Order: sequence, then C-alpha cells, then structure tokens
Amino acid sequence: MFKSTVWFLTGSQHLYGEQTLAQVADNSRQVVDRLNEASLAVEVVWKPVLTSKDAIRRAMLEANSDDDCIGVIAWMHTFSPAKMWIAGLDALAKPLLHLHTQANVELPWSTIDMDFMNLNQAAHGDREFGYIESRLGIARTTVVGHVSNPQVTDQIDVWMRAAAGVRAARSMNLVRFGDNMRNVAVTEGDKTEAEHVFGISVNTYAVNDLVDAVAGVDPAQAEQLAQQYEELYRVAPELRRGGERHSALVYSAQLEIALRGFLQAHDAMAFTTNFEDLGGLRQLPGMSVQRLTMDGYGFGAEGDWKTAALVRVAKVMGAGLPGGASLMEDYTYHLSPGAEKILGAHMLEVCPSLTTATPSVEIHPLGIGDREDPVRFVFTADPGAGIVAALSDMRDRFRLTANTVQLVAPDEPMPKLPVGSAVWRPAPDLYTSAACWLAAGAAHHTVMSTALRPQHWREFARMVATEFALIDATTTRDGFEDRLRWNAAYYRLARGI
Ligand code: MN
Repeated sequence: MFKSTVWFLTGSQHLYGEQTLAQVADNSRQVVDRLNEASLAVEVVWKPVLTSKDAIRRAMLEANSDDDCIGVIAWMHTFSPAKMWIAGLDALAKPLLHLHTQANVELPWSTIDMDFMNLNQAAHGDREFGYIESRLGIARTTVVGHVSNPQVTDQIDVWMRAAAGVRAARSMNLVRFGDNMRNVAVTEGDKTEAEHVFGISVNTYAVNDLVDAVAGVDPAQAEQLAQQYEELYRVAPELRRGGERHSALVYSAQLEIALRGFLQAHDAMAFTTNFEDLGGLRQLPGMSVQRLTMDGYGFGAEGDWKTAALVRVAKVMGAGLPGGASLMEDYTYHLSPGAEKILGAHMLEVCPSLTTATPSVEIHPLGIGDREDPVRFVFTADPGAGIVAALSDMRDRFRLTANTVQLVAPDEPMPKLPVGSAVWRPAPDLYTSAACWLAAGAAHHTVMSTALRPQHWREFARMVATEFALIDATTTRDGFEDRLRWNAAYYRLARGI
C-alpha cells in the first residue's frame, strides 16, 4: 500500500428523489468497500454522491489540492447530465479513471421494473459521461466490468500504480553529480521540458561536494556498515575484516553513507554519476549505487537523468510486487539462429532487486574511470518476464519506448564478467525488436523491470501525455514504423502551435 488515496466520485442527479439517491450512495459505498477488500495498491476513499455542477467542480478542486489524493475514479451510477461535469473535468489536474460498472452482476429478470431500470443505468449514464470526456479531450482510463471480477480490479491496480508513478515524478528532485558523458547524444535532453511534462526537477552538483561528504563520514560508522555487508551478502574474503583489501569495502560503505546523506539533504530520490568526472573520489561508485537503488532510489549512469527518473518511477509503480527494477544497458548479442539473446549489464551499477539470490560482493579492476578498483555486487538477474523502457528527447516531445522481454539463464557461466548482468530474449524476436528499437531512436540505457507489465508504462505515459511506443509479441517492423510516423503527426498536432 502507498501512503496515498484515490477518490471515488459517483455521479447522479436530483431527478430521482431522495430515496433513490440514498440507494445510489449506499451502492457506491459498497463498490468502494469491494475495491478496498481487493488489496489494491492504494486506498479508495468514498465521496458523497454528486448531483450538481458546483458540487462537481468543488470536488475536483479539492482533489487537486489534496496532496494525498493521486487520482480520481468516476462512476455514473444513474444518469448524470454531463454538461454538469464540464467545469469540474476542465479543472481536474489529476489522473482520471472512468469505472464503467454497476451494482448488480445479474439482471433480476423475473422482478425487474422501471424503478430498478432507473436506479441501475450506468450503461446509459456512463455513455453520457464518456461523451463529455471525449468531447473535452480528457485523458482517462476506462475500466469496464463488475468489481467482483479480478480483471477489473487488476486494471484499477495498474492505474493506481501508474498514478503513484506520476505523483513520484511530480515531486522528484534528481541530483546529478557532473554533466552528461561527453559527446553522448541520447542521454541529453531538455530538463526544463522534463520539469513541465513530468514534474522532475533535475539539477547538477559538483562531484567534489560529494567528495567532501565522503571525507566527512565517521570512519566507525563506515566500518559498522561494512560489517553489515558481511552479514547480509556473500562478501569476498579479501574484502572481509582482516582481509587485505578490507579498506576498499569500508571506502564503499563511506561512499554509500555520503551519497545517502547528500540525497536526503537535497530531498532527492534519483541521481546520476559520471565516470569522466569523479573529482577526488577514490572508486567509481558501484556497490553504493546498487545499495541505494535496492532502497528505491532511481539511478542513471554517465549523467543519464532520464533513465534515473524512469528507474525511480518503475520502483514506485512496482512497489510490493514480486521482481525489481534497475538501470540496464543493452551490451552485446548472442546471434545463434533460433537462440538469439541480449546480454545486458553496466560497468557496475545494476540493481540486485533483479535477483532473489544473495548477491556476492567483489572487487575487480575496471578499465574505465581511472580510479582504484571498485567494489560491486555480482549476480545474474532471475529468469522470468520483464520489460525494458527508455525515454528519448525527440526535440518537440519525449518518447517512451518499451519492449517486453523474457529473461533467461545464461547459456554458460560468465566467470570473467564479475558484474550484475541479465540475459534476455526480446519480443517478438531479436531482429524485429532491435530494428524497431533503433527506428524509435530509443536509448542504450533502459530501466529493466521484472515487476511491471506494459500496461503500467502505457497508463503512466497516458497520464503525462507522452508518446508510448511498445514493442511486444504482436509487433511487426512495418506496423511499428507506420505507428511512429502517425505518432509524429499526432503529437505535433496535439500540442498545438
Ligand atoms: Mn552506460
């Protein structure tokens, strides 16, 4: 459960009289109770039945101003003339779910009369509501069916998680230590536009501010954290207390304490580093980054703030679900016909939330970064379903590209690759996937999630009015390329002049 709520608004009108309105209120309370019994990600809060233009407008303004409210569910139990909803829908600044449901599952064939028909006419009232939503161009998610149907509650849960992701983005401060890696294009982007579209505040700090913070860490505290590592993980003997390289583990702990404190001091839940700009740091941050991402922080390497933000959003959307989320990088291919796979990893910073195994802690040389050997977690991501997503700045808009994947075990152990890594087969196949990914201009950095499904990202994108390009089992190259062309026209038109 997130510490947040969604509001449940029921539409009706005065035409039916007090007795019917009392029944409407009772029924909608029961719908809310059923939803709250379904263990959804967010608590649903019932609000009094709305029967007038002014009450609707006020309810929406209150939803906007309540920081705990991350979205609104609307249901027209009876007929609620939709011109009453225009001012309210125009004012609503939070995600909207239109729940097209009714109180009863079955028609009472033998007893049905006009009173029952007038009370239970969402089939009619929700069509009126859908008209005004479409006429006003209101972005919303429509869910159809009875709340006792698990497919219905699953869709509502997905929407809630996406809304929680949007809330996380809107309140996100993102700390960058240094700028982008020199000359890299895809990690660049319009940070002002990102704050407007997603709400993410992206700001750069000197890496030597972090160096100062590392120097200020109490050595006893760092030693204590290093001891915790030894209890929690499979720490290489040379790094253990008494081992010849133990001081490198303590330095990694110092880095973690300093990073954590810096992020807390700046109220930041995501950050980036840049191996070209390490100032006085002795190691490229590896295990320290991995530990923070295990705790829900977003991270992007080489100054990649867009991926750092996506990792944080994926952590929030997937909270409490089995699986994890991490920065990932498409690195190299296995191209044996019929057994094609992608090997993904990063220099150090892949998040161990992708495995249920206990990761090992090791120290090895790193040819990049020009510093002392860095300490890192070593593991392979669990087999299973996953999704990778990347955010590209297309000049006039952001494009969120995603690909469903199947993580698999490596064909053989990779003893000379001591990092966190994952092996996967992208849908629908590597050739189509890679061709579409390249056509979309999607990045080599992604967030890989084993907790989320495409619907989570689709709903998130809808809520922030951002292009979503999905590559999945049904994708063809021709169809995908056509869609990108249509999207280019659509998003330029939708944005206006
Ligand atoms: Mn990279």
